[in-house]
Amino acid sequence: MDDRYAIGVDIGGTRIRVALSDEKGRFLSRIEEKIDLKNEKAISGQIIRVSHYICKNSGIALGKIEKIGISSAGPLDLRKGLLIKPTNLPFPIVPLTEPVSGELGIPTFLLNDCAAGVLGEKNFGAGKNVENLVFVAQGTGIGGGAIVDNTLLSGKDGNAVEIGHFTIDMDGRLKCGCGRRGHWEAYCSGRNIPNFVRLKIKEADEKRVKNSLLFKNTIGNFKNLDSKALFTAAKLGDSLSLEIVEDIGRLNAMGFANVVNAYDPSLITVGGSLALRNKKLSINPMKRHLQNYAINRIPKIMITPLGEDANLYGAIAVALS
Ligand SMILES: [Zn+2]
Repeated sequence: MDDRYAIGVDIGGTRIRVALSDEKGRFLSRIEEKIDLKNEKAISGQIIRVSHYICKNSGIALGKIEKIGISSAGPLDLRKGLLIKPTNLPFPIVPLTEPVSGELGIPTFLLNDCAAGVLGEKNFGAGKNVENLVFVAQGTGIGGGAIVDNTLLSGKDGNAVEIGHFTIDMDGRLKCGCGRRGHWEAYCSGRNIPNFVRLKIKEADEKRVKNSLLFKNTIGNFKNLDSKALFTAAKLGDSLSLEIVEDIGRLNAMGFANVVNAYDPSLITVGGSLALRNKKLSINPMKRHLQNYAINRIPKIMITPLGEDANLYGAIAVALS
């Protein structure tokens, strides 16, 4: 019996990951590069070039590849296989499936990155045999994918699981990237945690702020603060930073409680760069407060065992399906 092979592609915020996998999800070759931003056609060119390379690298002829799956953040036109005004890339339209399948002669499919995460988990991660599963991505933003009763939720426009825009603050103290106020992502995503830290610092006792490690590490310049500065100081035991991390945990608990209440999963896995870099400080404070907001039975919640490759696994799962 011949083995089956597929290529998965994950277009992230700044990096692109490409893997050649067998049907069991074993990577024969995996390449990660910065996204080529020369022009809107450079990305498909990059996928073609890397596909040739990983085939050669793993000794699998290009003709042996059944399909190619490409995961990307939206907005996507799934039928035409292109990105429309993508938030992370400076082009109005990025054609993907047509140039790739045209050049390589392999059927190529595009899928939403959040759907990819949950499909990766279901097929190759902690979600095998799990009928009700949510994947939460906490990175630059907050996104998610949900499988309910073994069905991937999609919605009329493919946006059934826009969990990052759950409202968790009726006072709307912080503005979200979408333009609305009070959304989960506006407080707890990698991009927006600095805004929340500045908010908390304004409320805190000035002397305490000046004595904090957070102040020392940023030389008091909170304008250029990033989420890493907060978590680094918290990991070293800075009490102000730990208190802010606990507050973020409480807000995360509201977000996760909404996930639990809306989708009633038996497993939630968490990925995304922010969560993966700060596993304990992302999950534990949230778990301490979750019961206060969730009405449904609390499911198992864990960091994804697939790490930063969850979307890549999802792209491969779709290519093999
Ligand atoms: Zn929003």
